[in-house]
Amino acid sequence: MSGFAAYPVGMENTTEFLNVLRNMIVFLFEHPPVAVAAVVAFLVGTLIIAAHRARPIAKDELRGFTTTMRQEAKRRAGDRCEHSYLGFRCRTPGGHADHIYPWSKGGWTTMENCQSLCVKHNLQKSAHLPGKYYINRLEARRRRYFPANVSGKVDWKKPA
Ligand SMILES: [Zn+2]
Repeated sequence: MSGFAAYPVGMENTTEFLNVLRNMIVFLFEHPPVAVAAVVAFLVGTLIIAAHRARPIAKDELRGFTTTMRQEAKRRAGDRCEHSYLGFRCRTPGGHADHIYPWSKGGWTTMENCQSLCVKHNLQKSAHLPGKYYINRLEARRRRYFPANVSGKVDWKKPA
């Protein structure tokens, strides 16, 4: 009878798993403190994870750019939308001040986090999180059209 499988293929592992599970449950019933400790550890772990996920993002009290900031963003961009696609900069005039790093994600309402976009590209960007590549490309483009005395460096953190 050697080699005879008592169960269809796959069943042996399932049965083994159920045995281990049953032994664990029996062990926990025989050792209540261990069972209580396991439940407490699980609950504490769940609470820590929940608290971590629910932590609020620090946001700037100033939600939107002021008229002065918007006009300055427009001026330094040469009154042209700062959006670029495949090396072609949008030809539409700017005028909509956009948080490069979204305000809702903790981006500050400062000139360092502001770009001038046209309506279409402002809507298209929305709360999209810019990657490092996006920011590097924007900074590089700005060296060509920003006034010489204005830095095109992007920074979205709370000013020190
Ligand atoms: Zn545009």
